Amino acid sequence: MTVGSPDMNNDVANFYNGSGTVRVAGKIRDRWGGNLHNGYWHDDADDAPPEVATERLTDLMIDLLEPRPGQNVLDIGCGIGKPAFRLLRAHAVRLVGITISESQVEQARVGAAEAGLADRATFEYADAMRLPFPDDSFDAAWALESMFHVPDRDRALAEAARVLRPKSRLALADFVLRTPISEAGMQVVDRICETFGVHSFSSLDDYLAQLSSHGFTALDIRDISDNVARTGTLLADAWESVREQLVENGNSAEVDAMISATRDFTSTPEFGYVLISATLD
Ligand code: SAH
Repeated sequence: MTVGSPDMNNDVANFYNGSGTVRVAGKIRDRWGGNLHNGYWHDDADDAPPEVATERLTDLMIDLLEPRPGQNVLDIGCGIGKPAFRLLRAHAVRLVGITISESQVEQARVGAAEAGLADRATFEYADAMRLPFPDDSFDAAWALESMFHVPDRDRALAEAARVLRPKSRLALADFVLRTPISEAGMQVVDRICETFGVHSFSSLDDYLAQLSSHGFTALDIRDISDNVARTGTLLADAWESVREQLVENGNSAEVDAMISATRDFTSTPEFGYVLISATLD
């Protein structure tokens, strides 16, 4: 497990604000319909396009969250709000989304207004490690592919436990490392961390122990590594097809490193992907 300083958030924010040399989030959003997370495919014969497969992953997370009418949900690392909007359309809940990208806050607010959901959704700039909310302010929380960015996941989980009321549900979609990790695997892990602003990776066992140390009991753990695996290849292909645009205001070496890291990621067995639902004691 990597434990870093809050300053490490800066590279994550740059990555999503698109102020760095690679304007990654924008490109994914345009091509993949706004979800900044993996797709879910039932099997090899399933030819759903990414914009459908990514919505499926959101739906699996909605099932794990088991939202009830009137609940106040915290979306930790909300992106541009696409998963939040799907949850809000399906369930009569309220939601607060946080992200450390200012441009995402703006896009999520505009998106909520356009979708007619602004009366039940607010989005703000905040760090998962320092939540600007009083104790016991939420009934449920989810983090779709955001925890791996957080420099100190222990602190983020402590904060989630603090702002959630007892018996609340927490749903997570995250990468885990399968051990033992070969030397070649470790090189890819290091490269992924560097390229994508990833600061918290661990084995599933360590993840569960950490959850439990903050009072979360895991109810359901689904290893969906095989179902999401296609995402990396599709993403690398998508980036390759807009490579010229990606390098326009930047650095071709960086773009190529990103594409090759994404391809290696898919073919590295050390990376697993899980959905976890847990309840707070
Ligand atoms: N959950 C969204 C976005 C996933 S991308 C979706 O599935 O579409 C990862 C998100 O985590 C980004 O919005 C990023 O800004 C956010 N994030 C990363 N580190 C964070 C931190 N320390 N605090 C809050 N949000 C963070």
